Amino acid sequence: MFGLGTKNIGIDLGTANTLVYMEGKGIVLREPSVVAKNTQTGEVIAVGSEAKEMIGRTPGTIVAIRPMRDGVIADYDTTAAMLKYFIEKTVSNSKPSVMVCVPSGVTEVEKRAVIDATRVAGAREAFVIEEPFAAAIGAGLPVMDPTGSMVVDIGGGTTDVATISLGGIVSSTSIRQAGDKFNSAIINHIHSSFNLLIGERTAEDIKIQIGSASVEKAKEIESMNIRGRDLVTGLPKSVDVEAVDIAKAIQDVVQNIIIAIKETLEQTSPEIAADVIDHGIILTGGGALLKNLPEVISEATKVPVFIAQNPLDCVAIGTGESLKNIEVMRKSRK
Ligand code: ADP
Ligand code: MG
Repeated sequence: MFGLGTKNIGIDLGTANTLVYMEGKGIVLREPSVVAKNTQTGEVIAVGSEAKEMIGRTPGTIVAIRPMRDGVIADYDTTAAMLKYFIEKTVSNSKPSVMVCVPSGVTEVEKRAVIDATRVAGAREAFVIEEPFAAAIGAGLPVMDPTGSMVVDIGGGTTDVATISLGGIVSSTSIRQAGDKFNSAIINHIHSSFNLLIGERTAEDIKIQIGSASVEKAKEIESMNIRGRDLVTGLPKSVDVEAVDIAKAIQDVVQNIIIAIKETLEQTSPEIAADVIDHGIILTGGGALLKNLPEVISEATKVPVFIAQNPLDCVAIGTGESLKNIEVMRKSRK
């Protein structure tokens, strides 16, 4: 019968990764937000990890697309196709109610696009929750209490900074400076220092292996051997890159994240700022794993900084937990 036995799901539709949380089960799917398509027919060839492997390696007839950019839908049809694949993979033939997160500060049009794409993808109904709020729930912060918490979610496309108190967002800032910008800073650095062209995947590997938010601390990290294409000879070449140089290359992005945090703190009341000083700032999202990032933010803001447990999962967990409020949201929509 309609809806009977259907589990509702929460989806963290991220620029880099999509996660699905199923009621009563927790996170049941984690895949890169990538779709491989045939350029001639538009046919979807692969979705998720399989499609990510194809980035930078596709022949002329196949293109690997990341349909989300800067936290919002950049390619509507491809996003809907990707969501359809992920929803079918988790709930097979049933039509679930779906809670999806959106970055804070998106426009009504962007929010609508997420709701519509989710329904096109097979949801019976779709609701949205603001990402920093979901991140805070997933990080275990006391979001309903009369005390201020600050969460900084560093994803692929955006860094979302928010203070939260009494079940709502008090102040927030979203900047288009996050994981992807770290990668492009690394690509540019390798290009100008070695005349070497590397792809997005290699840049990401460098960031994860030897990337450091602190130039000073990067001196303790070993160099890394990488391969790319020599722009002069056109031939493959390998070079050793130093962690200190990578740290310098990504400093601008690190500093922009710190500025966003400071601005958000300035927008809050003195009471909330005092609460944040007491409880610290919590980092979520994959970018939270950049080496030495908590120390660098803490030094600049004079506030303690912690990484949430399982930072990559926080938004999905928070989105899933907020499925409990779906009844309330249904009523308030009418
Ligand atoms: P989104 O919510 O935008 O999909 P995620 O929270 O899933 O993003 O985080 C993905 C980003 O985190 C990517 O840019 C990825 O390169 C980055 N990332 C993952 N692990 C690490 C790590 N160990 N160090 C630095 N960055 C990381
Ligand atoms: Mg995210």
